[in-house]
Amino acid sequence: MIRLLPTHSTIKIVIFMTILSLVIIGKSMQNQKQSSPTIVIGLGGDTMLGRLVNDTINTKGYKYPWGNLLPYLQKTDLTILNLENTFTKSTKKVSKTFNFKADPDKVKTLQIAGIDVVNLANNHILDFDIEGLEETIKTLDNTDIYHVGAGSNLEKAHKAVVLTKNDIIIGIIGYTDNEPGWAAGPNKPGINYIHVGDIATVKNDIANIRNNVDLLIISIHWGPNMREKPSQQFISFAHQMIDAGVDIIHGHSAHIFQGIEIYKNKLILYDTGDFVDDYRVDPILRNDRSFFYKVIIDKKSIRQIQLIPTLISNMQVNLASGKDYQEIISRIQKLSAPFGTVINNKGTIELVK
Ligand SMILES: [Zn+2]
Repeated sequence: MIRLLPTHSTIKIVIFMTILSLVIIGKSMQNQKQSSPTIVIGLGGDTMLGRLVNDTINTKGYKYPWGNLLPYLQKTDLTILNLENTFTKSTKKVSKTFNFKADPDKVKTLQIAGIDVVNLANNHILDFDIEGLEETIKTLDNTDIYHVGAGSNLEKAHKAVVLTKNDIIIGIIGYTDNEPGWAAGPNKPGINYIHVGDIATVKNDIANIRNNVDLLIISIHWGPNMREKPSQQFISFAHQMIDAGVDIIHGHSAHIFQGIEIYKNKLILYDTGDFVDDYRVDPILRNDRSFFYKVIIDKKSIRQIQLIPTLISNMQVNLASGKDYQEIISRIQKLSAPFGTVINNKGTIELVK
């Protein structure tokens, strides 16, 4: 005869199994909580989509400038670049050697790559005067791309962008020491100008957001072109910024990459070089070579940096290979050695906890 009702011992077994499975589920949830989530931040240097890059996009399409780097850009959780061109139809060139603009539709090139934030604090955002700045901001505001470092007044130019990715809150501020005449004022459009060494301004700017974010990034367009190493003044200022509470310094302006320093377990990229452009290549300094910098972080710390060597040619950035790859890796190892930074032959920096 088949028993339709469970016996006492069956009930006991069922209760025991239920408790056991609850304990197991509870434990695995605890483990998940303990292994804190990470995100990958992608950083690139100067990105100039004007002139010949603009023309090439017209014939080869919006994704052309990214070459075979595109999937790398799209896979990161947060990507930040320095935008070296305006997006404008304006013809109101200001008086200077190079004035860069791309047609506003070329913002799609940034969108395709999933760029999250661009720094506008640099020596090109006012190349077509205030009109060009305003159209660039309007163009970006019509997309989901955030911008830092310039605006219709000082308050907007120095305002941080705060984004949350995988439960990690990141703040970004943009500065430049280029073009002091373009500095934004209380009622004047312009850039978030900073004099290298002015730590009081940095402290003041980060005071309000430091405690509201897990990670704070400063993107800074600083120093002269084609400088191979940061001067002691720049090194000291970078240290002061980290001491004040900054986690990552994303430097650019030299057009060539400089050494990397891990200072108090924080990251200083003194210069990230050129990312994509149509610039003349210096045969010695090789401004066509640099990296896509991948920074893996969790809520509390920077865990690892992966340097992806890149090469610009024909208005396009691609993964560097062969001799280019080897020379780029050995150059960054050499430039970073004086800071005590160890970079392996695959371009990885492991942070010591
Ligand atoms: Zn520049």
